[in-house]
Amino acid sequence: MAKIFAIANQKGGVGKTTTCVNLAAALARLGKRVLLVDLDPQGNATMGSGIDKRTLERTVYQVLIGLSDVTEASVRSEAGGYAVLPANRELAGAEIELVDFDERETRLKDALAAVDDQYDFILIDAPPALSLLTLNGLCAAHGVVIPMQCEYYALEGLSDLVSTIKKVHANLNTNLKVIGLLRVMFDPRMTLSQQVSAQLERHFGDKVFRTVIPRNIRLAEAPSYGQPGVVFDPASKGAKAYIDFGAEMIERLDTL
Ligand code: ADP
Ligand code: MG
Repeated sequence: MAKIFAIANQKGGVGKTTTCVNLAAALARLGKRVLLVDLDPQGNATMGSGIDKRTLERTVYQVLIGLSDVTEASVRSEAGGYAVLPANRELAGAEIELVDFDERETRLKDALAAVDDQYDFILIDAPPALSLLTLNGLCAAHGVVIPMQCEYYALEGLSDLVSTIKKVHANLNTNLKVIGLLRVMFDPRMTLSQQVSAQLERHFGDKVFRTVIPRNIRLAEAPSYGQPGVVFDPASKGAKAYIDFGAEMIERLDTL
């Protein structure tokens, strides 16, 4: 049975997609069978996996509205070594169309059930909002990974996300857990980063992942080559950190 994780944070630009793509590639390198689900109409995880979002006939959109199954709509990321259920702009329409569907929050969960035995990990890249798409991600998941930058406002956004996760847990998905907070784009030379990081550890204890992802230009360059950073420059500090993070995720599975 696949372990399903949503990479979520309602803020944009905090490293969700970078984390999703690189964690998928890291787990694939560690021999795991991985499906990445792109739930963001921007399609950044799709492009970052080397798949052209403009030429797709089927995407996660058709899956959500019941016009395709997951297997038909999935594509292989040759660069990353994992499968992708891709997204493009069309997905923005799902938000409105799904309103008329029954059990609209569990469309993704129900669709993924059919491929559950084909993967070890399913990673969901959530959009930057607490929307119906994000709800579908949270309903489908066993756990949430929250990437965050160690800056002052990061903590403020966190309480909204945690209260949404609690509501989903209470009403829709009693399996849902926060797996952990991942410190990303970390700059050890900044005093504020150090302070916020220490504060996170105090408040959240072992919910904070041991691995810290540094700010690293190679991670930011990789998407323009259609490759995860882990593949684009495996020797870079950023890639190494994501590979460590992959190993830490596998380790954490034992505690779930
Ligand atoms: P989100 O999906 O939360 O909007 P992204 O993963 O797209 O965030 O990251 C936002 C921007 O920051 C992108 O341009 C990405 O390349 C860059 N970025 C993400 N993580 C890092 C990192 N560790 N080091 C340097 N740049 C990063
Ligand atoms: Mg993104």
